[in-house]
Amino acid sequence: LASRDFHPDDTVIEIKGVKMGGEHLVVMGGPCAVETPEQIDEIARLVKAAGGQVLRGGAFKPRTGPYSFQGIGVEGLAMMAEAGKKHGLLTITEVMTPEYVDVCAEYADILQVGTRNMQNFDLLRKLGTIQTPVLLKRGFSATYDEFLNAAEYILAGGNPNVMLCERGIRTFETYTRNTLDLAAIPVLQSLSHLPVISDPSHGTGRRELVEPMSKASVAAGANGLIIEMHTDPDNSMTGDGVQSLFPDQFANLLKELEQLGKLV
Ligand code: PEP
Ligand code: MN
Repeated sequence: LASRDFHPDDTVIEIKGVKMGGEHLVVMGGPCAVETPEQIDEIARLVKAAGGQVLRGGAFKPRTGPYSFQGIGVEGLAMMAEAGKKHGLLTITEVMTPEYVDVCAEYADILQVGTRNMQNFDLLRKLGTIQTPVLLKRGFSATYDEFLNAAEYILAGGNPNVMLCERGIRTFETYTRNTLDLAAIPVLQSLSHLPVISDPSHGTGRRELVEPMSKASVAAGANGLIIEMHTDPDNSMTGDGVQSLFPDQFANLLKELEQLGKLV
């Protein structure tokens, strides 16, 4: 079902008037994690003012270590929904277990499956039983075929609203956190009709690389970007402050994309 042979036309997912896929470029921005009502409200305001369409933020964080901050949970979902509604943004948040799919879908417009859960098949099956759009992140060691098969689980369950997200893979290079695989964008688009979103934040792990790799992703044909932005990145509650843009950098990037005629 993910294959272009089966479905020659690009899939365009529309939520409350925002189109994702085809000729449209969607920009999702926000913090790694939802922290406080003030934090998410202020960031939502800035995402909207910059021209973004979707507010990102994790309430459930998949941390490598068990003692790291794990997110503020359901409370965070409510804070984010409130901020999104107030500022006229769609929202996207990560869901990690099948048990939390329904509550996350109640609050968010798009559900994110993180790189560490790309092959959490119980989670994928559960996401196939609802219609809420899913942003499926590529596992950091997954081949294109494994990635598309993971998407297939959701599609086969009856949910056609899947977006693929390239967020960098593990290579021998250590200067960057991951290696953003730009070729994944045109390859996935040739193999599949699903929208392909690029995540240059996790894809590089370095703030100064987010702008050039965002532009490179758009030049390679990405249908959208998901970018971490924080008002006080040095004090963010996850380690992802180092890859988070400052609000003015985020706004400048979107302005430059617009000048390229790309932000629709
Ligand atoms: C995130 O989006 O904050 C995140 C944890 O992403 P990934 O699953 O790609 O590491
Ligand atoms: Mn993050």
